[in-house]
Amino acid sequence: MNTNSNYQHAIVIGSSIAGLTAARVLTDHCEHITIIERDIAPTAKEFRKGVPQARHPHILLKGGEQVLEGLFPGLRQELLDNGALSINMGCDMDWFMLGQWRKKFTSAIVNVACSRPLLESAIHSRLMVHPKVTFIQESDVIGLLTDESKTRVAGIRTRSRRDQTISEIEATIVVDASGRDSDTPRWLNALGFPAPTEDSVTSKPGYATRIYNIPADFKEEWKAIYIQPAAPNLTRGAIIVPMEGNRWHVTMFGMAGDYPATTEAGFIEFAQSLPDQRIYEAIKDATPLTEVWSFRRGENRLRHYEQLSRHLEGLLVFGDAVYALNPVLAWQNHFRRGLRP
Ligand SMILES: Cc1cc2nc3c(=O)[nH]c(=O)nc-3n(C[C@H](O)[C@H](O)[C@H](O)COP(=O)(O)OP(=O)(O)OC[C@H]3O[C@@H](n4cnc5c(N)ncnc54)[C@H](O)[C@@H]3O)c2cc1C
Repeated sequence: MNTNSNYQHAIVIGSSIAGLTAARVLTDHCEHITIIERDIAPTAKEFRKGVPQARHPHILLKGGEQVLEGLFPGLRQELLDNGALSINMGCDMDWFMLGQWRKKFTSAIVNVACSRPLLESAIHSRLMVHPKVTFIQESDVIGLLTDESKTRVAGIRTRSRRDQTISEIEATIVVDASGRDSDTPRWLNALGFPAPTEDSVTSKPGYATRIYNIPADFKEEWKAIYIQPAAPNLTRGAIIVPMEGNRWHVTMFGMAGDYPATTEAGFIEFAQSLPDQRIYEAIKDATPLTEVWSFRRGENRLRHYEQLSRHLEGLLVFGDAVYALNPVLAWQNHFRRGLRP
C-alpha cells in the first residue's frame, strides 16, 4: 500500500485482535474505517462466541505487547490497572521442559497476564471513541464487490444476523481479519481469481480448559506453571496462568490425539497423569468457576497469498486468516526434527 495515499473508506472484516489493530493502522491512512463483526462487542468479563479459542489461555508475548503499546499508548498500564498481573518469565513461571524443571533466573522480559476479553475490550473501547471508526455488529460479511474492471475490490456484501437483511457497502480497501475460517479463498475463486495454496501441519492437539479461583491459602512461589509436552513420548501437558479477578486459567492439553477429557473427573485424572504432580496439587482443592471447555482445532495453516499470480487490488488479508498457529508449537517442532526428550 502507498502510505502517502489518503484512502476514502476502508472496511475491516472482524473486530478481534487482527481486525482492531489493522483498523488502528488504517486510521493513519484513511478518511473513514468501518469494522464489520458477526458477533457482539467484547466486554472485559465475557467470552464471546465469535472467538471460541479465547476461552483458553492467551499469553501476550513481549513483541506483541510492544506493538500494541505503540498503537495504543498506555495499554499495558490500563491492563494492569484493571487487574492484569505482571509475570517475570524467568522466575515467576515453573516450566517443565524435556523431562526436567527449567532453572529459574530473573529475566528482562516481564509479561502481562490477563484474560483475552480484558485485552480485546481494552483495545475495542479505544477504537469505539475514535472519530474515524464505525462498528457494525451482528453482521456477516458474505462476499466481496468489485469495480467495473473486475480487478479491484469495491466493497463487501453483508447479511444482518438480526433481520437477515442483505446490504452492500462500498470501500476502496477491504481488510479480511476474519480468522481461521476466512472465506477469502472461496470469494476470490467466485470472482475468477486464484485462491492461495495452503501449508498445513498438525500435531492433533486438544485442549480442555477451566477457570478456578486462586485458593486463599495458595503458598507456592510460582505465578504460572507449564508442563510442556515433548515428542515423541510425552503427549500430555498443562498450564496454569493467572488472570484478573484472582483467577487461574487452567488448561490440560494432549498431542497426537491424546485428548484430555472434558468431564470434571477426566480433567483431574489428566492432571494426575502428568509427569509431575505440581499442577494436580494446585487444583485438587481449588474452586472451579466454570465448566470444562474443549478446543480441538490446533492445526497450523499458512495460506500463501504472497505466491498468487493475480491479486484483487485493494484486498488485504491479515491475522489468522493468513497464518493460524497452534500455540503449543514445540511438540511438532521436536517431532519434525526427530529430537527425543
Ligand atoms: C487454544 C489457543 C490458544 C492460543 N493462545 C494464544 C496465546 O497465548 N497468545 C497468542 O498471541 N495467540 C494465541 N492463540 C492464537 C490467537 O488466538 C489467534 O492468533 C488470534 O485470535 C487471531 O486473531 P484474528 O483477529 O486474526 O482472528 P480471531 O481472533 O479468530 O477473530 C476473527 C474475528 O472475525 C469475526 N468474523 C469471522 N467471520 C466473519 C464474517 N464473515 N463477518 C464478520 N465477522 C467475522 C469473528 O467473530 C471474530 O471476531 C491461541 C489460539 C488457540 C487456538
